[in-house]
Amino acid sequence: MALINDHFLKLSESYLFSEIAKKVTDYKTTYPDAKVISLGIGDITRPLAPAVLQAMHKAVEEMAVASTMRGYAPECGYSFLIDAIVKNDFNARGIQLDNDEIFVSDGAKSDTGNIGDILDIENRVVITDPVYPVYQDTNQMAGRNILYLPAVCENGFVPEIPAGKVDIIYLCYPNNPTGTTLTREQLKQWVDYALENKALILFDAAYESFITEEDVPHSIYEIEGAKQVAIEFRSFSKTAGFTGVRCGYTVVPKDLIGFDRNGEAHSLNKLWRRRQSTKFNGTAYIVQRGAEAVYSPEGKQQIRQAIDYYMENAQIIKNSLQALGYETYGGINAPYIWVKTPGGISSWDFFDTLLYECQIVCTPGVGFGINGEGFVRMTAFGTRENTIEAIERWKINLKSTTL
Ligand SMILES: *Cc1c(COP(=O)(O)O)cnc(C)c1O
Repeated sequence: MALINDHFLKLSESYLFSEIAKKVTDYKTTYPDAKVISLGIGDITRPLAPAVLQAMHKAVEEMAVASTMRGYAPECGYSFLIDAIVKNDFNARGIQLDNDEIFVSDGAKSDTGNIGDILDIENRVVITDPVYPVYQDTNQMAGRNILYLPAVCENGFVPEIPAGKVDIIYLCYPNNPTGTTLTREQLKQWVDYALENKALILFDAAYESFITEEDVPHSIYEIEGAKQVAIEFRSFSKTAGFTGVRCGYTVVPKDLIGFDRNGEAHSLNKLWRRRQSTKFNGTAYIVQRGAEAVYSPEGKQQIRQAIDYYMENAQIIKNSLQALGYETYGGINAPYIWVKTPGGISSWDFFDTLLYECQIVCTPGVGFGINGEGFVRMTAFGTRENTIEAIERWKINLKSTTL
């Protein structure tokens, strides 16, 4: 008899975005002529940068010729891409990393989900609430206990350092879903805690390129001592519109150690390399050439344009909602605006209101954790036209909503 991993049975029944999709489908069935605008799911709408496309086309041509075609890629990434990553994302910010500390992958969702493979089940894990659901669900699948740290208005969305001892800490900054950030000083407190308690920080920096303010760290390795306690996840998905292309990378410094149950130290870099070379066969050559082009002078400029476009959307949403009297957070260093629902109504009730009164799709905050109740998340990833139209409809149709 084949037994299942029954930790899967404890996962919440319906995935947030399937529930949203179902509600939107029901609405469209009832009102087939309505033009629904989605500012819900965090997916990009701008096309790939010309420099990226050109590099990918060239790579396709290479694949067509016996002398230049490539077979299996190195499991942890081609050095042409890793060189570009180290130089541009780290050296340029005064951070030194060796090439074998970078692991190229098919994205940060897989890596943040798979990292648990090299970590013991007994670890005490902390995540913030609200949170990107991957950290929670993958730890539940593995059967780990999770401690939740509220990120709420009252603490300015800065979770409190745990009073007791914990082993693994997931941090995502700039944050999805709240769009908020930590300052260098605030992040340093987490690094110091981890150093003191031999804890491991799993730092998700997927939105690093959306940072506009000076005091917000782009990498956890800007903080002294972080190389001894932190793994950092990066993704080309939001930075360069790669959600459908798939490429990201994970930094596992060689200074980073974990312990076996006898208290002996082991290199996490070695364990992750072993894990990746066993279960992963590398990111496609064509895709890695596309990612490399993100760092070319043209690539950098084109990608910046797309990010600026999204961040202007963010400003439009944030400023307009604030002018209407809404309480909003985020939207300055991240493409998400975290909006407090009017009159204290629930996230799902306000989701229904926006859908039925304005034909706008948002994401109910409660889908990211109980502390997300009473909020909705708006994304800046829509087109400019749709963003403006959505806000116009909001102004006209929700005027009477009590704030
Ligand atoms: C979008 C996102 C990612 C990126 O996932 P990919 O698998 O690289 O597309 C990672 N973390 C967070 C918090 C995200 O919102």
